[in-house]
Amino acid sequence: MSAILLEGKSIAERLKAKIKAELEALKAKTGRTPKLVALQIGESASSAVYVKAQKKVADSLGIEYELRTVPDTISAGREAEELIKELNADDNITAIILQLPLPKGLDAKRLINLILPSKDAEGMTPENLGRIISGQYRVGPCTAMAVMELLESTKVDLYGKEAVLVGHSEIVGKPLAMMLLNKFVTTTVCHIATGERGILPEHVKRAEIMIAAVGRPEIIKGDWIKDKAIVIDVGINRVGDKIVGDVEFGTASQKASYITPVPGGVGPITTTILMRNTLELFKDSFKL
Ligand code: NAP
Repeated sequence: MSAILLEGKSIAERLKAKIKAELEALKAKTGRTPKLVALQIGESASSAVYVKAQKKVADSLGIEYELRTVPDTISAGREAEELIKELNADDNITAIILQLPLPKGLDAKRLINLILPSKDAEGMTPENLGRIISGQYRVGPCTAMAVMELLESTKVDLYGKEAVLVGHSEIVGKPLAMMLLNKFVTTTVCHIATGERGILPEHVKRAEIMIAAVGRPEIIKGDWIKDKAIVIDVGINRVGDKIVGDVEFGTASQKASYITPVPGGVGPITTTILMRNTLELFKDSFKL
């Protein structure tokens, strides 16, 4: 392997130290502590893992964290709407996250849109997503922000670089494309239609920055990777008893200059970004 491994853990630790120091100073100044409420509807094994991880990080930083649950019944949607309104109105609660995925039949967008933008810990409300377009954002979707942290950690000048993003979801690809444009990165966004036309390799081959967020094991082949490219693999795919990314790691790491491992690249940073978003919302509430 010739690429340098971009490991998320060390970046997350550095971010946590910064968040903790800022929070301590803010507490001393305002006498208040941020409080993040996670809203979980029904039971999901993956949500349970996220909630546990979120609580652990929040506790380590001195952010109050509370889990509120709504049972998965026929009235779950209405109950969740009422609960979000209650959380919005409670001055002690400074940030809210709706745990995804939701049980079948519930409309995530409808519920997210009810969260006050000033309490939107995931930066997923239309107002907060819209701010990314103008480059005036302090909070944003955690995974997209984590990718930007990984890119910045390389210290490579992004200006004018050619990036190819595979995947255009609202939590990763779309906001990330805007974040890259704000840095004057020439950005191409590929999606299902690009794959169906069979021109994915053509795009990937020109990428100096290659970002995969698809959710298909090793769909990006190592021999498509441009020499010395920075490769960020967001994908998490279970294959048998192994977790693999969207990029064929073995061959890609021979050609790339930097590459994220899966697991251990993007994942460890995302929960820390959730806490940084919580801190930024708290600061905003004091106009700081
Ligand atoms: P998603 O909403 O399913 O989006 C996947 C994207 O890939 C879509 O834009 C889809 O296009 C595109 N796509 C599907 N097949 C394709 C193909 N053959 N060629 C080109 N593009 C194709 O998924 P997501 O939520 O963004 O997540 C993507 C992956 O990242 C998943 O593996 C997920 O587990 C992982 N993830 C990791 C983290 C982390 O912390 N590490 C966080 C979030 C997500 P269409 O929409 O047009 O079909």
